[in-house]
Amino acid sequence: MKAAIFEGPGTLTVKDIPMPEITKPTDVIIKVDAASICGSDIHGLAIPPGQYMKPGIIYGHEFCGTITEMGDEVQGFEIGERVAINPRVRCGHCFECTHNRGDLCSNSDHYGQLADGGFSEYAKVDAGQMYHVDQNIPVDIVAQVEPLACVVSSLNKVTPSPVDYVILYGAGPIGLTFIRALKAFGVRNLIVTAKGEDRVKEAKNCGADIVVDVAKETLEDVMKANWPFKADLIIDAVGRGNILPEAQKLINPQGRILLFGLDNNARSEIAPGAFVLDEISIFGALGKDFPGALELIRNPELGLDKFITHRLTLDNIHEGIEAMRNKKACRCIVYPNGLPE
Ligand SMILES: [Zn+2]
Ligand SMILES: [Zn+2]
Repeated sequence: MKAAIFEGPGTLTVKDIPMPEITKPTDVIIKVDAASICGSDIHGLAIPPGQYMKPGIIYGHEFCGTITEMGDEVQGFEIGERVAINPRVRCGHCFECTHNRGDLCSNSDHYGQLADGGFSEYAKVDAGQMYHVDQNIPVDIVAQVEPLACVVSSLNKVTPSPVDYVILYGAGPIGLTFIRALKAFGVRNLIVTAKGEDRVKEAKNCGADIVVDVAKETLEDVMKANWPFKADLIIDAVGRGNILPEAQKLINPQGRILLFGLDNNARSEIAPGAFVLDEISIFGALGKDFPGALELIRNPELGLDKFITHRLTLDNIHEGIEAMRNKKACRCIVYPNGLPE
């Protein structure tokens, strides 16, 4: 079968490899229906890498598929059923796993990053990583359950509401997912920063109330011109360290800052005193709320299909990666078994 292999820093190769086989009684083989390219896939391919990926693995951690084969101990699922996949496999015995923090497992065999993932025709997953999904929901939405689960889990920490004034940094695939989720949470005042004309347009399309084109205007000016006060909630969906010092100036007393974007190369200099004086809270977020995301996608108005810009075969995956790197793409969906009709 064909798969995209992460060969090492900067190199992703599509090639033929053997089909996966059931080796454990809880193993399941799925035919991959759709897989989405994540911003962290781009970070992982950067030099130096913004996130560690294990050389030799099948890349891609946001995917869904249809069950073709199951080990003897798998219960509650059927051959032919489409499932969503949680790529973070918990080891079960580290500190996090044994203290109700398994989402942060420090020994995780994360599919598509540290173990084989979903940019392939077939994938082997453990039954414990699978979720039932409404079979009527299109595959390009089900493939996005994983990033949505991360977004929902992070929003659960900061509980956005209709009375909050919210600033969101970033209008890439995750930023746009945040916009749709924030609207589902009832947020009415949302400023989004975007880089490049395409992304400004996409952010508006997705329902951002105000979009700041950072090449042309400053966030502070736009905020002051449009809002009575500062922001109650600031979300960083980019992961550059330079956002924090600015966020510090744009937040109301007792405001919340959510750090979501991840770039291990990012650095930041801030004045911690301001966080004390204004009782500002900073939240980091890495967890995944799959049940929450699976519930949200039942509502077609969530609109995760609004910002799919590229639909690709596995052979064309580099087209999507390049387009994301150049900020010409928002959501890129790869169909390893061929494009939908
Ligand atoms: Zn991801
Ligand atoms: Zn663990």
